[in-house]
Amino acid sequence: MAKSIKAVIFDWAGITVDSGCFAPVQGLAEASQGVGITIGHDRAWQPMDLASLDHVRNTVARLREQGIKIGVTSDDKAAVMERLLPRARAWGFSPDFLISSDQVSQGRPSPCIIWEKLMHFGIQNPREAVEVGNTTAAIIEGKNAGCWTVGVLMGFTEPGLTRAEVAALSGSEFQESRAAIRARFYRAGADYIIDDMDELVGVVADINRKLRQSAVHKLLTPGPLTTRHAVKQAMLTDHCTWDDEYKAITRSVLDDLTGLAANDDYATVLLPGSGTYAVEAMINCLTSWDEKILFLVNGAYGRRMLTIAANAGKQYEQLAFDATRPVDPEALERKLSEDPGIGTVVFVHCETTTGVINPLEELTRLAKAHGKKVLVDAMSSFAAYEIDMPGLDIDALASSANKCIEGLPGLAFVIAKRTLLEECRGRSLSHSLDLHDQYRGLYAGGGKFRFTSPTNILLALRQALDEYEKEGGLAARRQRYRENQQIIVWGLEELGIRPIVAAPHRSYIITTFALGDLDFAELYAALKAGGFIIYPGKLTALPTFRLGHIGDVYPDDMQALVDLLTEYLRMRRNRAETP
Ligand SMILES: *Cc1c(COP(=O)(O)O)cnc(C)c1O
Repeated sequence: MAKSIKAVIFDWAGITVDSGCFAPVQGLAEASQGVGITIGHDRAWQPMDLASLDHVRNTVARLREQGIKIGVTSDDKAAVMERLLPRARAWGFSPDFLISSDQVSQGRPSPCIIWEKLMHFGIQNPREAVEVGNTTAAIIEGKNAGCWTVGVLMGFTEPGLTRAEVAALSGSEFQESRAAIRARFYRAGADYIIDDMDELVGVVADINRKLRQSAVHKLLTPGPLTTRHAVKQAMLTDHCTWDDEYKAITRSVLDDLTGLAANDDYATVLLPGSGTYAVEAMINCLTSWDEKILFLVNGAYGRRMLTIAANAGKQYEQLAFDATRPVDPEALERKLSEDPGIGTVVFVHCETTTGVINPLEELTRLAKAHGKKVLVDAMSSFAAYEIDMPGLDIDALASSANKCIEGLPGLAFVIAKRTLLEECRGRSLSHSLDLHDQYRGLYAGGGKFRFTSPTNILLALRQALDEYEKEGGLAARRQRYRENQQIIVWGLEELGIRPIVAAPHRSYIITTFALGDLDFAELYAALKAGGFIIYPGKLTALPTFRLGHIGDVYPDDMQALVDLLTEYLRMRRNRAETP
């Protein structure tokens, strides 16, 4: 995995010679003539002052201190370079490896020369190398090689000007000329554009920060999650919302999502936004104004639905339960027998607040036996728990792309009976969260979002569904999450850290642990330093923390976390014992 920059590759011609820093220029010309070559008297360059010259030398020295190899590419023939190198060394610039373009089969923009150097340095990942150049050809070559690219403006002007012409430029002409070069570098796709070589050390530090971030952190959270590379990669295509190809992709996503829990009597309505947007749309559109809703609440997500209903002016009641225990079907049965006025029962399947799994089948059967409509917040259980919507006659559920489907945040969805989606026309108090309207657009409109669709996120969702299929669907995912959880729960138990939910009621999505005398902020920082992001608890009564088991994380990762935690606790004990 990429962790830091290991090589910086310079352009001999541009940076080290033409700009005049390899003084004296005259000597260079002489050396060239010695082998029958004329070095660019007509090349555009701005002589560098001694301070800039020192910048190059200092920059190279500071990169070397970090163990970074210095490679150089030259457009001059190997024979010329042989004569130039001793002079460069005498001046204080000695690359670790130098290749002339006549030493490889293909010149720029082929990445041949760069790869040759990477092989020489034993670098396998081109993202651990930076190409530094002052021409678009160098930047394109670097991009083709898969390296980071840095365009250097330095004292340069547009090529094609003679030295005398450059000297004759006015201040503003010089600036304009540099702006034109900047624009060309940008268009060529440079990752960084710097004015002067002494900015390069800062650029390398910034790249290293990005590499560390991308390589290390595993999120042990209930979403957004650690996602697969292919899922993020899928975002790299820009699509237009009404393009036929894009609409076909959208339709395939709708079909696949529906297929995960239902049949053709149901439809999936995608909505831009986080999961709550879908829960809100479901509650608002799929219950009527004169219908009483009963919420079964055993956590923060259940309570959030009460707020949604209150804001919409719905008639509702709640049955509240202890957050560490599942919703009690007997209490539901009693309530439904006592109060025939209830029209709809709503509950959360996996209460992510604690990780408690509620008895979906039992609650649904009871509500259905009383003839009620059933709406489920299946946000964190969908795609990891079996949900047979037609079999249980569930009316609708809400979930999102960034939980067990392991897609990216930004898209939520409601799967509902088509009859309900048809009949809720005109009921929504909100235009943007109108399920009926959005349903019409997506189905009658052949896959068209009414408003701007989060195209890249949808492509990532398409890829996430492909990854899901590839892994082996629900069975494989359930198995992996269970193993993840087992390693964590057993490992932490050894350390005296215990789950607060009893085993039979625990989901394999996320587990809540008692924090005991640990300090969350300190624990968080220690685990983050080791590459893991953990989640704070959400209970008011008891200090807790949570560990998610979902996302692109595996039993090996879980073991690494347990080892890290073991080490942290050992250090903490030692600290406490030293007076
Ligand atoms: C994640 C989640 C939600 C949605 O939360 P957002 O922050 O809007 O994504 C709703 N219910 C449950 C049970 C969840 O786990």
